[in-house]
Amino acid sequence: MLFRITVVLLCVLCFACQSHAPKETSHAWAMVIHGGAGFSKKGSLSKEKEAEYHTILNQALTRGELILKNGGTSEDAVVEVIAMLEDSPLFNAGKGAVFTHDKQNELDASIMKGDDMNAGAVAGVRSIKNPIKAARAVMNDSKHVLLTARGAETFASSQSLEQVDSSYFFTQKNYDRLLKILDEEKDVGLDDEQQSDEKFGTVGAVALDQSGNITAGTSTGGMTNKKWDRVGDSPIIGAGTYANNATCGVSCTGHGEYFIRYAVATDVSKRMEYLGEGVGEAAEHIIHSSLKAAGGNGGLIALDKYGNIAMPFNTTAMFRGFVRPDTLVTLLYE
Ligand code: ASP
Repeated sequence: MLFRITVVLLCVLCFACQSHAPKETSHAWAMVIHGGAGFSKKGSLSKEKEAEYHTILNQALTRGELILKNGGTSEDAVVEVIAMLEDSPLFNAGKGAVFTHDKQNELDASIMKGDDMNAGAVAGVRSIKNPIKAARAVMNDSKHVLLTARGAETFASSQSLEQVDSSYFFTQKNYDRLLKILDEEKDVGLDDEQQSDEKFGTVGAVALDQSGNITAGTSTGGMTNKKWDRVGDSPIIGAGTYANNATCGVSCTGHGEYFIRYAVATDVSKRMEYLGEGVGEAAEHIIHSSLKAAGGNGGLIALDKYGNIAMPFNTTAMFRGFVRPDTLVTLLYE
C-alpha cells in the first residue's frame, strides 16, 4: 500500500539534499516546482508569510500529483500548476508580477515538451491573465515558438484566453519595491547591473508523466525596474526552460541575462547527453561552478526520465518542492 510522507523543512544557506534518489530508481511519475530564488535575509519571512507560501506550494504540488497519478499528461500538470502559482500574489508571475521602470507589468512565460521538442512562449505581455496558457497555445495552436507584446495578446485573445485590465496586476508590495529602487537609483546613481532586483520569485514546474513524457514550464514578471522592453531568460527556450525525454526537463530562476548567455537549461541536458552526467551532477555543476564563477545568481529545478530530481541554487533562498508516488516534499528556503 502506498503511503505518503509530507516533509516541511526550513533551512538557511544549506545546499544539501538538492539531488534526490539514485539513478537506478525509477518513478512512474514525478513533479518538481520552484517559486523563485533570491537573497532573503534569515528571519525576514514572518511565520504567517511562510505558512502562506507553504500552503500554496503544497496545493500546487497536490494538484500536479492528482493529474499525474490519474494518468494525466505532464503538459496538463505543468500548465495547471503554474497557472495556480500565477494566480497567487505571492510569486513574481501572473497576478504578483513585479513592476517595470515605467510602472507597468510585463509578463513572460514558456513551455517545452520532451517527446516532440515542441515549445511555445510569450514575452512582454500586459493583459493575459495566465501567460503559461498563452505559451501553451503558441506551442499547440501556432506555427511559432515565441510571440511578443501586443501580437502575443492578439493571438491569446484569438484563442479565447482570459484577458484582464492592467490593474489586475497591481500589488502594493511590488509597487513599493519599485519606488524604493527608483529612490536608491536617484540617491546613489547605481548602474544597471547593480539595480537588478535581488528578490526573484519566478515560478516553474517540470513533470514526468506515466507515458514517460517530460514537460517543463516557467512564468515570470521579470526583474523589478526593467527598462526598454527587457526580456529575461524565462521565455527563452534553452535558457530558462528546456525539455528532452532522452535526458531531462529544466526550469530556471535568477538573473536572466546570465541564464541566456550560458544557455543554462539546455546545458543541463547537453551535459547529460555528451558527458554522461546524471541530472544532479549536471545541474549542480552549472549552478555552482560555471554560472557562479561568471557572477550569475539563481537556481534551477530539473527532473530526468527516471524521476530523479535536482534543485540547486547559489543564492540564499529558493522556494521549491517535489512530489512522487510515495513522497511529497516542500522545502522552504529563506
Ligand atoms: N529569470 C527571470 C528574469 O531574468 C527572473 C527570475 O527568475 O526571478 O526575468
